[in-house]
Amino acid sequence: MKKAGMLTSALKLECPKCRKADLFYFPILKFKKMYTMKSTCSYCGQNFNLEPGFYYGAMFISYIISSFFMLISFFVIKFAFQLSTWRTFGIVLLLVALVYFYIFRFSRSIWIHFFVDYDENAKNIQ
Ligand SMILES: [Zn+2]
Repeated sequence: MKKAGMLTSALKLECPKCRKADLFYFPILKFKKMYTMKSTCSYCGQNFNLEPGFYYGAMFISYIISSFFMLISFFVIKFAFQLSTWRTFGIVLLLVALVYFYIFRFSRSIWIHFFVDYDENAKNIQ
């Protein structure tokens, strides 16, 4: 069986250890409990809160992703559609607002993928 890559697993917001269960309770378009993560993996039991304040580091990842997203989309929109700087800026802010929740979740997913290694023999705890 082909192993899913770390980036693919992070993009899919899966458990970094078993890559079989989700990090979050609800799908992203269900706005209920948007920020609530599971405390442990429902498949392998991996703890998702490695230490108190573990996800503060994810804010830096979120900052980097948001910055690049804004910068790239600004120049693409500005030069593809020949809009004014302020109009382009408004559209970019709207785009960032649309992808904000995914960036939030993806940053946390990347952060935990840095610290927890994939274990292809992870056992189901149930
Ligand atoms: Zn797991």
